[in-house]
Amino acid sequence: MADREFIPQADLKAGYLARKTAIDAAVKRVLESGRYILDGEVASFEREFAEFHGVDQAVAVANGTDALELCLRACGVGPGDAVLTVSHTAVATIAAIDRTGAVAVLVDIDAQRYTMSPESLDRALGDSQLLDGLTPTAVVAVHLYGQPAEMPALCDVARRHGLRVVEDCAQAAGARLAGRPVGTFGDVAAFSFYPTKNLAAFGDAGAVLTDDGELARRVRALRQYGWDEKRVSQSAGMNSRMDELQAAVLRGRLADLESDNQRRRDIAEQYTRGLHETTLRLPLLADGATHVYHQYVVNTKGRDSLHNFLAAERVGTAIHYARPVHLQPAYRRRVRCVGELRETESAAAQVLSLPMYPQLPFEHVEIVVGACRQWSASRPG
Ligand SMILES: *Cc1c(COP(=O)(O)O)cnc(C)c1O
Repeated sequence: MADREFIPQADLKAGYLARKTAIDAAVKRVLESGRYILDGEVASFEREFAEFHGVDQAVAVANGTDALELCLRACGVGPGDAVLTVSHTAVATIAAIDRTGAVAVLVDIDAQRYTMSPESLDRALGDSQLLDGLTPTAVVAVHLYGQPAEMPALCDVARRHGLRVVEDCAQAAGARLAGRPVGTFGDVAAFSFYPTKNLAAFGDAGAVLTDDGELARRVRALRQYGWDEKRVSQSAGMNSRMDELQAAVLRGRLADLESDNQRRRDIAEQYTRGLHETTLRLPLLADGATHVYHQYVVNTKGRDSLHNFLAAERVGTAIHYARPVHLQPAYRRRVRCVGELRETESAAAQVLSLPMYPQLPFEHVEIVVGACRQWSASRPG
């Protein structure tokens, strides 16, 4: 057992080697073109990414955090505003809200999906003490781990209160609800192409997606010094450009996104088949949802014990996320929380992400399943 090869939680190099010829060719094409930032590859990626979603406009930017900030700024969010989101997410979600000058108001998650609870959102918006001094203007719904958030219910609540809806799709490129891709439910959506994501670059990259031409125009201006078509700064902008190398790589990877996501679903099915009789709580298969398993997350009160057991069995795991954002030193006094965020804190204590990447061999999944079953059988209850 002990000298079996280590099974990593993720393997980014395997993703490169699986498509080495095409990726090398794309990189060479860009290097030889003499054009390196916001040029033809970026324009083509924007078109192809918008088409993939059946949406009018995609704007390529430097990373996912910028994409979120640009979505919010294009919606007019700024100081004095409240933006409602969750605490069980990447810190980036809250960092982007904070950078606009707005206050992040954190609502609880649904215990099964790990995404924003529509009831908790509704409760927050009815709590005048919580929102005191702030104007609620937008909701950021996060499709965490590749599971679509409950968009119809969340959009209902948001519309009733006159709020803009931003989707954080960083972990869910290609996920669907009733056949409709995430990123097409709200007013505007943000994507990250950080190398670990389902749609991955070889560096930082991100995008904004929207059907609203005015929002797209504002994001295009803001991503480059607030320039208009004549390169005159009409608004105070930033530098958040995507380079041609990332765009060329992303075009190839977008073409493979559906098959990569299918492979993740096949692996997830194998886990679920192997683990459904254990004491572990497994990812929810929600009605009408097409999960893309950015992570395959199990839930148990014995999380730390399972983590250590698997490490001894030479199986890599990860915790997404051990500390919710409202308990992080930099943000704890900058955010407001609706109630105690019970489900958020319970998830932080109990979640564990098993190995998951498209090239993960089925034999390795069997080994991980076997180790989890062995751990589960050895524990009371
Ligand atoms: C990765 C991630 C981001 C931020 O993306 P970067 O490209 O790292 O800036 C935002 N939200 C979520 C949910 C993420 O997973």
